[in-house]
Amino acid sequence: MNHMLHSGLHGFPFSIVVEKQSSPNLRKDRFPLRHGKYSEIRTQDFEFRFNLNGEIKTIRGLSPHWPHPAEELKRTDGNDWMYYTVGDQSGDRGIISWLGEYYLPCLPYPSNSVWEVNYFANPVIMNAFSAWSQLYADLYMAGKNTGLHSRAGELVERIMLNNDNVLHERANQLHTIIGGQVSVLPPDTRHVDYEVIPLMIADGCLYHCKFCCVKTARKFQTRSKENISEQIRQLKSFYGRNMENYHALFLGNHDALASGAELICFAAEEASAAFGFGKPQVGTPMLFLFGSIDSLLKAEDSLFEQLSRLPFYTHINIGFESVDQSTLELIGKPVDASTVLEAFRKMQHMNSLHTNIEISGNFLLGEQLSGEHDRSLAELLSEAKGSSHAKGTVYLSPMQDNPKRRELLPRFYEIKSRSRLPVFVYLIQRL
Ligand code: SF4
Repeated sequence: MNHMLHSGLHGFPFSIVVEKQSSPNLRKDRFPLRHGKYSEIRTQDFEFRFNLNGEIKTIRGLSPHWPHPAEELKRTDGNDWMYYTVGDQSGDRGIISWLGEYYLPCLPYPSNSVWEVNYFANPVIMNAFSAWSQLYADLYMAGKNTGLHSRAGELVERIMLNNDNVLHERANQLHTIIGGQVSVLPPDTRHVDYEVIPLMIADGCLYHCKFCCVKTARKFQTRSKENISEQIRQLKSFYGRNMENYHALFLGNHDALASGAELICFAAEEASAAFGFGKPQVGTPMLFLFGSIDSLLKAEDSLFEQLSRLPFYTHINIGFESVDQSTLELIGKPVDASTVLEAFRKMQHMNSLHTNIEISGNFLLGEQLSGEHDRSLAELLSEAKGSSHAKGTVYLSPMQDNPKRRELLPRFYEIKSRSRLPVFVYLIQRL
């Protein structure tokens, strides 16, 4: 139900919808992306959306000058403004073919995208930020208007409490609760448009690979149950009323799978109960975590059985990187190609056993990698059991120092065309 309380607010150049309800689940083929409950304010040239705490979430241009009616700016909980583009090609070479999504998030920080829009250089897009400042000033004046309907007045008050400085501080607060910024989210979080609640159950990782741009210097160490419970308590308060718009949990950090079944299940169950996940009208919540080759190989069947009994659909993402021994040595990943193969087979086996667990894997894509890397990977994927719709998506992650990123796409399509499993490009995003 939509509560349209003010349309063309008297004397002010905007209209307000205090609360709008779209489908609780993300419909990816709709444009622009919408789900859950939010507030909407429209001026002649822009549409602004706010979450249930009154924090600005998206800005979309409405004038004919805006690049595309489906494109918009979106702010993350880490306070990064990203520009969602639909790209410059459709059909079998469009964004959907290499990302699995209809939109490509263009990030305001260095990442590994094969294609990005430098939206900072586009005055039409940047004008959205001036329009946001103008709207904030207009809302301030409107807030003094005693004729405002009480619910619209409350919304204006909430928005006034969340100016740009407060939003910056809120992101710092989130990072303080979990013990630092999330340097990379699993690629599978694209299924919920990267809208996850982060909860750290371990720090560091097992390998410290030379090529990796997201690692920390810390040794792998699990967090205590007390620490996890305290994070959950603080996260619940941090997300406030807007918690109802979340149905996905990311258990961090780089190798949560190595934490073992007891800690993973403890964290997932406590968080699910505290955050109110699993409401029947919303459907099954999603759980995301990273794993490593060793943590996957060491994981006993009982771990997967316990995960399969959680109230979540669980996505585990494993960093394989290459099945070519010389490439593994070049990138400084301290595992053998035979071990990578063994873990890849285990991924496929586990995917066939558990209907609510999906393990995906990452391999590298880079100009500096040998033909043997591409050849061995294409061969592995051409012999894999499965279909292009099967579980076990393979993500190809462009190495960050490629000078000509878009020229990697032909290499990507070559590997994808030979694969029996779904293959997409991994876009590294932080939170
Ligand atoms: S690739 Fe994964 S395992 Fe290797 S250093 Fe980076 S985070 Fe750690």
